[in-house]
Amino acid sequence: MRISELLKTGRPSFSFEFFPPKTDEDAAQLMKTAESLRALEPAYVSVTWGAGGSTRRKTLDLVADIKSKLGVETMAHLTCVGASRSEIDAVLKEIADRGIENVLALRGDPPKGRTDFVPHPDGFKHADELVARIRTGWNFCVAVAGYPEGHPEATSRSADLENLKRKVSAGADFVVTQLFFDNAAYFDFVERVRNIGVSVPILPGLMPVTNIAQLERFTTMCGARIPPALSRALDPVRNDPEGVVRAGIEYGVTQAAGLLAGGAPGIHFYTLNRSRSAAEILRRLPR
Ligand code: FAD
Repeated sequence: MRISELLKTGRPSFSFEFFPPKTDEDAAQLMKTAESLRALEPAYVSVTWGAGGSTRRKTLDLVADIKSKLGVETMAHLTCVGASRSEIDAVLKEIADRGIENVLALRGDPPKGRTDFVPHPDGFKHADELVARIRTGWNFCVAVAGYPEGHPEATSRSADLENLKRKVSAGADFVVTQLFFDNAAYFDFVERVRNIGVSVPILPGLMPVTNIAQLERFTTMCGARIPPALSRALDPVRNDPEGVVRAGIEYGVTQAAGLLAGGAPGIHFYTLNRSRSAAEILRRLPR
């Protein structure tokens, strides 16, 4: 089913994001994790696309298997990194042939050690071009990425918002946001996006904190702020790994409940392939 149709029902959409594990054994384990999460009735599960298409086989196998074997709706991520137009077309054909109806259309990150994105000579420079390509011949529901605290390469916040508008004008059906920890950033972002005439649903991305070093690494990479309330929650448990997980769950419950109470259409959980925190947060939300 197209996720855009699920979003029209008005019921909050809860989704989980996985990345394709390296080995077949780990992929089998991930299927078990996905199966355990099925009881929580996720609207969909999404699977990331590795740098330069390195995970193509595993990404497509996982989205196809989770959908066909577990009966859970899925979305394949797809980036423009290192791919020509014809290679992108071939992937889109495979996604369609495997019965996947939802695609998250992304530009992708520059390769490790570089700060600038270099498109394939016959490829796409930005995600809006990928969305436009998808709209020329495919019938997918298309999602795009949004950045409540601005994309790190954006020349300004307003330019970033105009670029998001370009992706929606090219045909995107909904937006999934980068992770953030301050709900004010999300609500301010939604208001600014609405003010420039973009009306598609904007699903907030939430990453349960499970490890402080990882939190610091991710926030530095994507430019998300660690608000004082999160620092205060983590300070007393800095040297207690289980305490960090528990504090992350408590913070996640408060953050998710605040987002839903403020009108967010659901929550997209960045699980990092671990189900415990996302599942616990979801169980404690009003549904
Ligand atoms: P774009 O929308 O192209 O934006 C990139 C930058 O260019 C922004 O600064 C934007 O303001 C600017 N820009 C956009 N359009 C134009 C234009 N037409 N002209 C000029 N400037 C423009 N990465 C992966 O490799 N694999 C994944 O599976 C993956 N999944 C993700 C899922 C989510 C929900 C999110 C939020 C991110 C994900 N990423 C993933 C990371 C993503 O690839 C990076 O954030 C990347 O740097 C930007 O991708 P984008 O699609 O937002 O790019």
